[in-house]
Amino acid sequence: MLTADATEASRSGARTSESVCDQAVNILGIGFGPANLSLAIAIEEWNAALAPAERVRARFVEQQSRFGWHDGMLLPGATMQVSFLKDLVSLRAPTSSFTFLNYLHERGRLIDFVNLKTFFPMRREFHDYLSWAAARIGLPVDYGVTATRIGCEDGKFVADMSDPHGAMTRIVADSVVLGTGIRPVLPEGVVAGRRVFHNHRLLGNLDQLPADSRNRFLVVGAGQSAAEVAAYLHETYPNAEVHGSIRRYGYIPSDNTPYANRIFDPQAVDEYYAAPTDIKKRLLLFHSSTNYSAVDADLIEELYRREYEESLSGSRRLFVHRMTEVADVREESDGVAVVLRSLGDGGTTSLTVDAVVFSTGFRAADPRDLLGMDFDLTGAYEDDNPIVARDYSLRLPGLEGRFFLNGGVEHSHGLSSSLLSNLSVRASEILSAAVRSTPSSG
Ligand SMILES: Cc1cc2nc3c(=O)[nH]c(=O)nc-3n(C[C@H](O)[C@H](O)[C@H](O)COP(=O)(O)OP(=O)(O)OC[C@H]3O[C@@H](n4cnc5c(N)ncnc54)[C@H](O)[C@@H]3O)c2cc1C
Repeated sequence: MLTADATEASRSGARTSESVCDQAVNILGIGFGPANLSLAIAIEEWNAALAPAERVRARFVEQQSRFGWHDGMLLPGATMQVSFLKDLVSLRAPTSSFTFLNYLHERGRLIDFVNLKTFFPMRREFHDYLSWAAARIGLPVDYGVTATRIGCEDGKFVADMSDPHGAMTRIVADSVVLGTGIRPVLPEGVVAGRRVFHNHRLLGNLDQLPADSRNRFLVVGAGQSAAEVAAYLHETYPNAEVHGSIRRYGYIPSDNTPYANRIFDPQAVDEYYAAPTDIKKRLLLFHSSTNYSAVDADLIEELYRREYEESLSGSRRLFVHRMTEVADVREESDGVAVVLRSLGDGGTTSLTVDAVVFSTGFRAADPRDLLGMDFDLTGAYEDDNPIVARDYSLRLPGLEGRFFLNGGVEHSHGLSSSLLSNLSVRASEILSAAVRSTPSSG
């Protein structure tokens, strides 16, 4: 059966085939996090100026049952690492009604926010902004639907989807925009369990711990999330011991100074993309502390102050184990046995804790997980990195339409690729390229 959208598509002349598809669109967005949400807004604003028959027909699918942005880490007081001016639209279209400022206005908080005198809203508030924007989108968004495989038929993309009840759907699309974000990474050999987990599940998993089992924690990692988790556990459970294991000597402050911050500018994408590979690698290394394994200086000071204050009173609860790594971790029904090894003298420390939180980062989703056997990917990858054009498309032979990567292209497009900084500009670049290569639209 064709949906209302697909019916409109067939009326306006787009090719649909009821034998292979339930729906047909010009652009299929897979994943509906901030990246594809920003794209959806760009499409709606593009369509607004066009006659119905000329509009881009787009559809989005999202595996979560409702909009959510890293819900497991919505810690009280945690703030954004990016200016609110780099919201879903402002750098592309500052007069859009989807700006963070308009959100504040509609929520009746604009003047109160101004009095906060900050560029960095709380993460909980930004989550509410993103949810507000997602709810205003008029294009179809199917929540609770997971893309499982993308193939190709008659020169079009054919995407298989499954919903939580196992029902399968197919969507035929001229172009696909993959906005499937990042995947949590655990160290090799570590198996997630009830008491051993990655920080992206923090809040949900803490809720699942027995009430008398929140007395001692280990947080592994030296980045912003690790420091936030350590601070959160320390203040939320006032009798709990919190141990941090970091490979470094100390937490390193994140660099948010203005010259370094330019690495996130839209123009930096052009400069980075055009640079030779060795210069790209060098730039990532020089400026990794703008984003990776680095912590807000204020939070570092705060953690140190807490540890110092406890050492004065003689009742220590916060322990940062510098130059250590996890040598062994064994989850039991009532706790976790951990061995920390010193990277200096090799000595070990055994700890029994209620839970271990690995704040060990993320990696970009790999498009090959979705691309089926229909595609010849010879020459589409170098090592494990997709070879992506400046307009974010991965060229796949035999197709008129394009396959775009809306994120996960740090190796070719630079540090902003997995962040919010450049979302709105990237969305308009992808939309322009998709419209150019879609014969039935624009
Ligand atoms: C705790 C935390 C805080 C952060 N804070 C900041 C910050 O302050 N500033 C900043 O710039 N960046 C920040 N980041 C980086 C983060 O990557 C970006 O904020 C943002 O999430 C990128 O958006 P995205 O849409 O590319 O990816 P995601 O937000 O990861 O969204 C991808 C979506 O795709 C869905 N999906 C995945 N696979 C499928 C599939 N097969 N079918 C259907 N749906 C699928 C997922 O459910 C998800 O909703 C933070 C990251 C974390 C973890």
